[in-house]
Amino acid sequence: MKIDGMVAVVTGAGSGLGLATARRLAKLGAAVAVLDLSQSAAEAAAAEIGGIGIAADVSDPAAVEAAFDKIEATLDTPRIVVSCAGIGTASRILPRDGSLTIDAFAKALNVNLLGTYAVMNIAARAMAKAEPLDADGARGVIVNTSSVAFEDGQIGQAAYSASKGGVASMTLPAARELARFGIRVMAIAPGLFETAMSAGLPDDIRAEILKSVPFPSRMGDADEYARLVQAIVETPMLNGTTIRLDAAARMPIK
Ligand code: NAP
Repeated sequence: MKIDGMVAVVTGAGSGLGLATARRLAKLGAAVAVLDLSQSAAEAAAAEIGGIGIAADVSDPAAVEAAFDKIEATLDTPRIVVSCAGIGTASRILPRDGSLTIDAFAKALNVNLLGTYAVMNIAARAMAKAEPLDADGARGVIVNTSSVAFEDGQIGQAAYSASKGGVASMTLPAARELARFGIRVMAIAPGLFETAMSAGLPDDIRAEILKSVPFPSRMGDADEYARLVQAIVETPMLNGTTIRLDAAARMPIK
C-alpha cells in the first residue's frame, strides 16, 4: 500500500519508536495523528511533523474510540495504524518483600495487550467500512509492537512477556479474520532500542544485554523500527506474522 496521501495513526508517538514512525510516515506524505498518554507530548510531536496530536490512554477503549472519531472527522479514515504505546515493566513473580504482584501483571496486560487490541478493534471497524485502495482490495494495514521478550523473556519479565506474547499470538488470527476486508495485520518484535523506555537500564545490565547482540552489536535506532513499518506498509505480501528486529539477539536469562 502506498503511504503518500494516507491517514496514519501512531499510538505512543510522543516518544521513542512511535515518534520515529510518526516522523517517517509524515515525511513520506501521510497525514499523521499522534496519540499519546500525554497531551503535551502528543501536541509537540504533531507540531513537529505537521499532524494532529490527541491525548488518549489506549487501555481506555472509550478514549480510543473518541480519538478515532476525532481523527475520522478531522483527517479521514486511517489506513495505516501503528501501535507503539506501551509500558516496560520489571517485577519478579516473588519479590523479596513477599508481596503479590498480580496488580502489576494486570497493568502490563491492560496497557500492552488490551490497549493494542482496542486500537486494532476500533481501527479495523473504521477501515472495513472504507473504500478499497488498490487492485488487491487493500483497505488498510495495522502494525502492532511486540518485543523479543515474547519468546525470550528475562527474569522479572513474566508480565511484560505475557503481554507481548499476546500481541504476537493475535497477529495471525487477526490477519485471517480481517483478510476479507482487505486489512493486513503485522507485529514487530524489537530487541533493545535506544528510547526513553530503555534509558533507565543500569549500565551493567545494558552491557550484559549487548553481549547477546551478535551483529550489529549495539542498541537499535528508533528510525530502524520506523523503516520496517514503512517496508510492511509498502509490501502487500507481508501479513499475519511477527518479525523480530533484533540483530540476531537472544536475551540472556537476566
Ligand atoms: P517510550 O519511548 O517510552 O514510548 C512509549 C510511549 O507510549 C510513551 O510516549 C508513553 O507515554 C506512551 N504510553 C504509555 N502508556 C500509554 C497508554 N496507556 N496510552 C497511550 N500512550 C501510552 O518507549 P518505546 O521504547 O518507544 O516503546 C514503544 C513500544 O515498543 C512499547 O510497546 C515497548 O514495549 C516496545 N518495545 C520497546 C523496546 C525498546 O528497547 N525500546 C524493545 C521491545 C519492545 P508516557 O511517556 O507519557 O508514559
